[in-house]
Amino acid sequence: MKFSINFASLFLIPLLLGSNASIANTNAADSLFNQLDQDWIRAQWHLKKFDQLVDEGTVAEELFTSKVYSNLQALHVRLEETSEQLAELGYSFIKNAEEFRKFENELTGARLSHPYQKWVRDNSTRMLRAREGFIKSTWKLEKDYDFKYETKMENELSFVPLDAELEELSKDFQNEFRSVFLSSKSDILIEPSSEANGNVTGNRFPKGTWSVTWDDGPHKSNTQKIIEGLEEISRESSIPIKGDFFTLVPLALTYPEVSKMKLAHGMGVQDHSFNHYDLTRSGMSKHWDKEIIESADVLESHYSAFCDNGVKIRPTFFRLPYGAGLHHKTIRDKIAKASMIHAFWNVDTLDWQDRNPARIFLRTKKQIESHNRKNRGGLILFHDIHQTTITGSLDTVRYLVNSGNNVWRLDRVVAAVNGVAYVETQCNIKTN
Ligand SMILES: [Zn+2]
Repeated sequence: MKFSINFASLFLIPLLLGSNASIANTNAADSLFNQLDQDWIRAQWHLKKFDQLVDEGTVAEELFTSKVYSNLQALHVRLEETSEQLAELGYSFIKNAEEFRKFENELTGARLSHPYQKWVRDNSTRMLRAREGFIKSTWKLEKDYDFKYETKMENELSFVPLDAELEELSKDFQNEFRSVFLSSKSDILIEPSSEANGNVTGNRFPKGTWSVTWDDGPHKSNTQKIIEGLEEISRESSIPIKGDFFTLVPLALTYPEVSKMKLAHGMGVQDHSFNHYDLTRSGMSKHWDKEIIESADVLESHYSAFCDNGVKIRPTFFRLPYGAGLHHKTIRDKIAKASMIHAFWNVDTLDWQDRNPARIFLRTKKQIESHNRKNRGGLILFHDIHQTTITGSLDTVRYLVNSGNNVWRLDRVVAAVNGVAYVETQCNIKTN
């Protein structure tokens, strides 16, 4: 008898472990989903405040050093980190891509009928399982925030105070952005450097000259559509329109046809790290070399391999994820050591939080007008991983071109600011 009990419990151990682990996962998932939900509400509230500042014509120096903006950046970091944690957790569930598609349809319905939060709680296990299938089917690279629902519930938004972690993150951002935007203007050459001249914001760009940049891609279809759109505007205006793409290394390697297309159309190919970490987070220093230096090396061999005339295509600009680490001496040294200039921005479209192309365009246009009043051009930040950014960003470029502005690659604008001749590296694309 004694023997049989022990024998039975041997079989029970894995079962019990399994179910405990799954309960633990469900609880962990619930708290992550809850945080995601709260942070989304916080971000949406702050987005409205940001728009109010823009409506009032607030200049970039005040806009990007405001508490509202640093709070938004802090929220952007945590929304991404929480999504990543959920994705990791998802690996403990069984999944397939088909299940995800079924689930997605249901989710769309839930988004339109509030309360979303309750639906998420009731479905967290299924959601994780489905998300995992989704991630697996796209090689864990798709960063989709759509499940954070659209703006149906905008009227129900309330202010949710930041917690201690967000306050801390936000304080760091505000210090960083102050150091960038309030540092004394200089007329020294822009070049790779850990000093102020190794970072461009766009504030020194001449009036009527703009750089448009897209981060976090490439995306399997959005990026191509943006390039095609730029080509169309070029044809309409008979002016070649070029932009810059700040890519994540794994994505560039996953979509080589997009890399090739960028080069064939003379777009700037720039570096946005491997994994999109906030590099100022504790424990991150061990990743700095890979995220900053190795990423540039990998991208250089990736892009150069498309050219049959032996030219080297190396990113000349680096953008820190979230702009985090700008006033960190060692991080900035590494960017300079990899022969790259850091590219910040002075127009933020906030297209990662806002998925309405018309609103994205309006927010962008108002910031452009504010720089016009200050007699300067600027550097505009978009994200090509979002489908809604295709229209939002192409409308912006069309508006700029139709009102007589230059839309140039970043290296061309910097050459103009430095007063040196601009020579574009010509890559003859291999035909095979
Ligand atoms: Zn980014």
